[in-house]
Amino acid sequence: MRYLKPLPAFLLLFLLLFLLSGCAQDQGKPAVPAQTGSGLQVVTSISPLADLIKNVGGDKVQVTALVKPGNDPHDYEPTPEDVRLVSTARIFFANGAGEEPYLERLVKNAASPGLKLVTLSDGLEILDKGWNGDYAETGNPHLWLDVQNAEAYVRKIRDSLSEVSPQNRDYYAERAATYLQDLDQLDKSIAAEISSLPQADRQMVVFHAAWPYFAKRYGLELKSLVKNSDSEPSAREYADLITYITSHHVKAVFGEVGFNPKLVQQLARDTGVKFVGNLYDDTVSPDSEANTYIKMMTLDVQTIVKALK
Ligand SMILES: [Zn+2]
Repeated sequence: MRYLKPLPAFLLLFLLLFLLSGCAQDQGKPAVPAQTGSGLQVVTSISPLADLIKNVGGDKVQVTALVKPGNDPHDYEPTPEDVRLVSTARIFFANGAGEEPYLERLVKNAASPGLKLVTLSDGLEILDKGWNGDYAETGNPHLWLDVQNAEAYVRKIRDSLSEVSPQNRDYYAERAATYLQDLDQLDKSIAAEISSLPQADRQMVVFHAAWPYFAKRYGLELKSLVKNSDSEPSAREYADLITYITSHHVKAVFGEVGFNPKLVQQLARDTGVKFVGNLYDDTVSPDSEANTYIKMMTLDVQTIVKALK
C-alpha cells in the first residue's frame, strides 16, 4: 500500500506534461521553423486568393502571394527566395487544377514536413477537362471567377486556418461569415448587371481562357483567343474567331491585365471591333484600382457591361 502512494504524483506529472504538450500544439506545431512577423505564415500562388485568405485570416495571418500583383501566373517560376518563404510557412493554399504546375517541385524543395498543403478547388466542378492543349489533364484552373466558387474557397480557408490554429476558430468563423455575406451580395449584383444586357450582347471574346466559370455562372457566350497565355491560335482558329465575331456582331474583345495585349489588339483591328484591355482575372491590381477580389470583380463587370452595351 505504501509504495503505491507516489503513483498519483507521478501520474499527475505525466498528465501535466501531456497537457503542456497539448497547449504547445495549439500555438502552432513546434516542429515548424521560427516565423518572422506576427501571425500564422501562409503562402498562396496568386493575389486574388491572397485577398480571400486575408479577409478570413485578418491580423492573425500573414499571407504572401508568390506571383506579385500585375504579373502573369502562367509563366511564373519559383525563385530560391520563394522556396525559403514556403519552407517557413505553415500552410500553402494552392488553387489546383493546373494553376500551379511548379507546386510539387516547390514543396519538395521547401522540404518542410510541417507544411500543410490545401488545394482550394478540390471537390468543386472543374471545366474544360479533355480539352486539346494545356488544360487537357487538369481542367481549367480559373474557378474563382465564379463568385460561388470563391465562397467555397473561403469556407475551405476558414476550416483550414481553424484546424491549424484552433484557438482562433471563432475569430476566423466570424470574419468568414461577414465576408461570405459580402460575396453573396457581389454574386447577386454581377448576375443582375449581366442580365441587364440584351441576350444577343452577352458575348465575351477574351485573350486567354480564364472565363468559362464566370460565363457559365452569369450566362454569357465565351470565346477565347488562346487556351493559355503562352500559346498562339492556329491560322484556322484565328479565322474561325473572326467569322464568329462578325457573324455574331460581338461588340468588344478583351485583353487582361498582366498579359500581352498584342494578339487581341490585332484581333480588334482585323474585325473592326473595339478593344478593351483592362480585365482582371489572374491578378489583382498593384495600385488601389482593383487591389481586392471584390474590387477586381466589380470593376470587371462594370468594364464588361459598358463594353457590351
Ligand atoms: Zn489564367
